Amino acid sequence: MTDYKPMWGKPFYEKIYPTNSIIMACNTRIGKGVVKGILQAAKDTDSPIIFELAKSESDLQGGYTGLTPAKYGKFVADVAAEVQYSNYIIHGDHIKVGKPEDIPGVKELISAQIEAGYTSFAIDASFLYDESGTNDKEHLSGNINATSEVTHFIEEKLGHKNFGLEVEVGEIGKKDPKTGLVMTTVSEATTFIESLKDHDVHPHFLAIANGSVHGFQYDKHGNPIRQEGIDIQLTSDIGHAIKPFGVKIAQHGITGTPLDIIAKKFPKDVIGKGNVGTNWMTVAWDVLKIFEPELFETIFKWTNDNYQKSGIPINETFLKYSKLAILEHFDELYAVNETTEHALASAAYTSALMFLKAFNSYGQAKNL
Ligand SMILES: [Zn+2]
Repeated sequence: MTDYKPMWGKPFYEKIYPTNSIIMACNTRIGKGVVKGILQAAKDTDSPIIFELAKSESDLQGGYTGLTPAKYGKFVADVAAEVQYSNYIIHGDHIKVGKPEDIPGVKELISAQIEAGYTSFAIDASFLYDESGTNDKEHLSGNINATSEVTHFIEEKLGHKNFGLEVEVGEIGKKDPKTGLVMTTVSEATTFIESLKDHDVHPHFLAIANGSVHGFQYDKHGNPIRQEGIDIQLTSDIGHAIKPFGVKIAQHGITGTPLDIIAKKFPKDVIGKGNVGTNWMTVAWDVLKIFEPELFETIFKWTNDNYQKSGIPINETFLKYSKLAILEHFDELYAVNETTEHALASAAYTSALMFLKAFNSYGQAKNL
């Protein structure tokens, strides 16, 4: 009998590693229909796939999606069994250690994720950047220590090292008031990975600050614009510097990046994982606008009533803050009828095909 539980991260990533392809990681804040469409697209194209939620999206209280790790793990595994596809991972995205005192809470969250069947984890201690340090190692020491401690906790908890591991250097989207977006340097990336190896920590993916931002960016009318800010040369340089350590880059903040740029310009020999989040939410909103107009209107109004600021276009407010309406309308979103669910799955399916093709994922699950 085939088991449709998520696969273990380490062997999964190691088998995909030699291919020039990016594994798509989907932050499906609204799971209904969407997870099914993505899994069906992955199955039909033999693509490896990751489902993930960040700590802000899913924590022990449910985060802003209303999904605790237990709920999310069960939801995804149930859909995988329905679709009959097993080449997937459930990953804890941005398990944030903002300060050392966060570590006990992080361990509690990870324990719940393990219990829920998660097989891969992203420890994000990039915020622990020590400005007072005089070299990369000193700047990064807080991050190195926190990342190591949490990784060893996962090993002990699981009793093995078969899990997937993503780590983060350089806070994504961090801005310097004078110079703009702060970028990770090659030396920071290699120092970080080497230091982790000294602590017997062996990540599969490294998230870097390379010019991407989470979610959309907007023009003055509040319309999303093409995100072309990812520094491809820097990404490639860092990627080639860390590749000898068996580490590839996890590219965050892909929503908004034109697919043709991903298809043609992303260095797929060094980018191994691509996170797509906001896209799945807008796919759901577009469907609900037509299939559940009353519910959509309620959500639109709730978002604007709570977050509209003068001078900001209404559609920008909606795209930025509607994620916070999911928890508020959780029951209605998960109770939509079969017709709506089918439309959600179909829209997610088409969108997933586009990303999987641009990521060169087609056929790569044959390696698993
Ligand atoms: Zn991210």
